Amino acid sequence: MSTVSREMFDQFMTPNYAPAKVIPVRGEGSRVWDQDGRCYVDFAGGIAVTALGHAHPQVVGALERQAKSLWHLSNVFTNEPALELARRLCEATFAERVFFANSGGEANEAAFKLARRHAYDRFGADKHEIISFHESFHGRTLFTVTVGGQPKYTEGFGPLPAGITHLPLNDVEALRAAISPKTCAVVVEPVQGEGGVRSCTEEFLRVARELCDANDALLVFDEVQCGMGRTGTLYAYEGFGVVPDILTTAKALGCGFPIGAMLTRADIAASLTVGTHGSTYGGNPLACAVASAVLDIINTPEVLAGVAPRRAAIEAGLDAINAKYPMFTEVRGRGLLVGWVLDDAWKGRAREVLNAALAEELFVLVAGPDVVRLAPSLIIPMDDIEQGLERLERTVAAVYRAT
Ligand code: PLP
Repeated sequence: MSTVSREMFDQFMTPNYAPAKVIPVRGEGSRVWDQDGRCYVDFAGGIAVTALGHAHPQVVGALERQAKSLWHLSNVFTNEPALELARRLCEATFAERVFFANSGGEANEAAFKLARRHAYDRFGADKHEIISFHESFHGRTLFTVTVGGQPKYTEGFGPLPAGITHLPLNDVEALRAAISPKTCAVVVEPVQGEGGVRSCTEEFLRVARELCDANDALLVFDEVQCGMGRTGTLYAYEGFGVVPDILTTAKALGCGFPIGAMLTRADIAASLTVGTHGSTYGGNPLACAVASAVLDIINTPEVLAGVAPRRAAIEAGLDAINAKYPMFTEVRGRGLLVGWVLDDAWKGRAREVLNAALAEELFVLVAGPDVVRLAPSLIIPMDDIEQGLERLERTVAAVYRAT
């Protein structure tokens, strides 16, 4: 029996999370075991992170090999894994230059700073305004919570960075009215994750592209959650047919090893001259070696083509459960970023579903109080999907009965 217990969280850690009562200790594929040996089906994927499941042998191998050769240098040097990963990311996307960070928030911080600096270099300090959208989420640094469209995350942390406007998502006319020559960037998640699993429309992103071009503003796609194969293409922008100027990626890029990256074109990257931005660990050899292995696996036709049938199986299962126990109005999102939206009678109770799922040995997520979110591994076996859905049916039945 482990001497480490959940009570220690309350004793030793800051209270900004409310973790579950169980402590997972081991994972393999889409299965996770807790301290008592109970085995869970993982429909959460560490919040869209473990896109290849837990302990993928090729990813473990890459980490082990790098761990035995070189862990860290500093920005006095570059290193082979960082250069290889940067090249792979450029070859696989619109990008020509990459900045490495350690998280999604840091990749976005770099993106927003670059957008401002680039506008400053070309047009002067007046062109600094950023347009973002309600319910968006971009990280927890002061700049990224301020660009994010959820006021609860900035409350009490002011004064906040200025010049940031929030508009309703998918509202073409609101964007048309708000954008101006003072706008340096429009920042959007092609599929909002934390904000309730809401997809942009193709028309909205297309118009955003046109308006950015007309106003010399940069279009920034935050693909921290929806990128790395989650929607069935390596990055979601490919599926929408709209190319951003800057793209941020993290989460599944390291499949659980902390890494983030900001991708952009060479002409924009030119504003990040020596000394303008940096990070001790950004481009760390361990993280970059892992991410290259992850990218090699995810960016293959087999893995990407596997997203749609898995989505279809999950969606059919959710519809069947809802037919028996009506609680939900729709299944939304794209690919394996799935939002199951509670109807009016059940609003506010997503967390209850998450907790009831744990009792059935199933991990799910929430996206706000009204949406149950699933973000499983992109290679979750069909058998695990089936077993997870059986557990989810028991979960929903239990919540139903308890009411
Ligand atoms: N951007 C999006 C779209 C996210 O979903 C998240 C995290 O949930 C972040 C940024 C922040 O990433 P991190 O927690 O790695 O800083």
